[in-house]
Amino acid sequence: MKLFDCHCHFHLGPRGLAPLLQNLPPPPYAPPILSSAESSPSPSSLLLHDGQRSSTPLSATSTSDQKISFSFAGAAIMSTHPRDYAQVDACVSTLQKQSYLAVPCYGIHPWFLHEVIALDEVLVGGNDNGSNSGVIEGEGNKDDDWLTELRQRLIDHPNAIVGEIGLDGARWRAAPGDDNDGSNTHNPDNNAAWKYQKRMLSCPMNLQRRAFEQQLVVATELNRPVSIHVVQSWGQLLDSLSNVRELMRQKYERIGDGICDDDVIDDTADHIVDEQYSSIRRKKKKQSKNRLLLPPKIYFHAFSGKAGVLPSLLAAIEKGNVSRNDVYFGFAPAIPNFYSSKTPSIMKQIGIHNLLLETDLEDSTTAWDDLNEGIQGIAAALDMDVCEVANQTHDNAMRFYFEREAEIISSQ
Ligand SMILES: [Zn+2]
Repeated sequence: MKLFDCHCHFHLGPRGLAPLLQNLPPPPYAPPILSSAESSPSPSSLLLHDGQRSSTPLSATSTSDQKISFSFAGAAIMSTHPRDYAQVDACVSTLQKQSYLAVPCYGIHPWFLHEVIALDEVLVGGNDNGSNSGVIEGEGNKDDDWLTELRQRLIDHPNAIVGEIGLDGARWRAAPGDDNDGSNTHNPDNNAAWKYQKRMLSCPMNLQRRAFEQQLVVATELNRPVSIHVVQSWGQLLDSLSNVRELMRQKYERIGDGICDDDVIDDTADHIVDEQYSSIRRKKKKQSKNRLLLPPKIYFHAFSGKAGVLPSLLAAIEKGNVSRNDVYFGFAPAIPNFYSSKTPSIMKQIGIHNLLLETDLEDSTTAWDDLNEGIQGIAAALDMDVCEVANQTHDNAMRFYFEREAEIISSQ
């Protein structure tokens, strides 16, 4: 039984993957494999599963009446900023060299958008007197260069998905004033006193929305799954999904009309042409009716929505011709929400077939413990055996991250 970490940022941790790989317990009855931070298990020494991947090493998770072994399958490494991309690639390559599965994920996290999008758009604090104090510090790219870079990265890495992107209505920064320059960001969850300070969103919501929708469009056009972060902005999210659906619909209509016009120019046999034209239009209309208006698979990581959000969320996604079977949710033990008394009933409402395991950690030191805690939490909520949970969440991860490869090949 294998555990796959569907959402993490180990490339940002102080020692990258080393703490995780070192902390994996050795397989029973086998000599220790890892001896130093840089050492790694040689593929030939690993236990082989399914005749394909070697998975290392086994962990013994005790429950009241049984001892269960799990192995580490791999991880999806989530970018937060374009400056991360090379580190994500390095992390993915390290895992793959050791025969683990690994997925690179590219995108811009809402917490860092203000450092990336065009400087002249991120005017804050109503300060427009020409001084620099109202502009967030950072290397801003004009003309959405970041989006061009993201698209190219995804094209260059057909196995990559889009993540981590999203909307955050609770990530604050100090508003510019006498006491500060507005350059500090802060999460109010960690400090109640923050509520009483003059504050503003680290990136204005309208700009978050725009960048989020742009990234969703790229994911849809390139047929890539997305990993989405949403905090206190579910209404905004539904509006964004609606915008993206409409934008994609218009794009398909433009493409469809263009093809029809080119195909039927012939004035010598008008009635035949008319018939052909109508037939092509009908066919195109039918095709465009079923075309994806949103990314093919959507994963809400560290889900913080209330149970009441789920029906409208799934309905909004189905309107984009994406099946609700392709909508996934994760709950990370590192995020307090995992332990909320309401979480078990939300997990039940979602169901085992649409839950993914995740750590959302940068420091990989406790990642293995968190993965184990993740399956225990789901098993308790759904009243299931931990082995079943491990198997099912692994299958879910394989569907989410790897199933589309056949579609990409067949479309070439
Ligand atoms: Zn994350």
